[in-house]
Amino acid sequence: MSQERTTLIAGNWKMNGGLDEVDGLAGDLAGRMAGLAAAPGFELAVCPPFPLLPMVASAIEESGIALGAQDCHGNEKGAHTGDVSAKLLAQVGCAYVIVGHSERRTDHGETDEQVRAKAEAAQAAGMAAIVCVGETEAERDAGRATEVVVGQVVGSVPEGATAENLVIAYEPVWAIGTGKTATPQDAQDMHAAIRASLADRFGAETAAGIRILYGGSMKPGNAAELLALADVDGGLIGGASLVADDFWAIGQAAG
Ligand code: PEP
Repeated sequence: MSQERTTLIAGNWKMNGGLDEVDGLAGDLAGRMAGLAAAPGFELAVCPPFPLLPMVASAIEESGIALGAQDCHGNEKGAHTGDVSAKLLAQVGCAYVIVGHSERRTDHGETDEQVRAKAEAAQAAGMAAIVCVGETEAERDAGRATEVVVGQVVGSVPEGATAENLVIAYEPVWAIGTGKTATPQDAQDMHAAIRASLADRFGAETAAGIRILYGGSMKPGNAAELLALADVDGGLIGGASLVADDFWAIGQAAG
């Protein structure tokens, strides 16, 4: 982790969490932030399901915790039943939108082109897109992990990336929710390859400011080792973000 990039620990609640989690999880985290004696050396974000966003926004108000959504549509508005516009997400207080999570790429067949449009929409609405990339186990076993991931970065990241409007999340698909994690060496190598690809396109200075998160079974027990890597600038946390003690411990490992 570089001094110039603030570590971001973002919790992806996925299709979990209900009204109980507004105070029980988001409010609990806000209370812990308020109890800190000094400014934390990390940024926390929570990404609950859509209906909870306004309530969670209230629960974390003035805590310093950022709000994020798990998806948005690529168009500004229109006849897209069931979808949510980036503009509305920004209006309810979101600073981040996760786009291109592997579960959406799999469950909804999202392509790099669609992910890029969603990222563009999020950025146009004034938020940062958290663009997710990652290889499957078969792709890694075939020695194609870097080619696949860098290809997704090239295809999914819109023009005009800055440190403020873009975060990348490297999430090996085989590590999500499985308890398996990339080795520190493999994670660092992939993050460095992603940063090199961003540097080719946006210049070294911009690439040096863009945060690249690791995701895939990050837990309190393995967070410190992963977060200490030179090009790992935080974590996108699934399962462990649903337990306040665990999510907080990962933040502490970063700070
Ligand atoms: C995720 O889905 O973004 C994720 C990283 O999940 P988990 O931490 O549960 O592996």
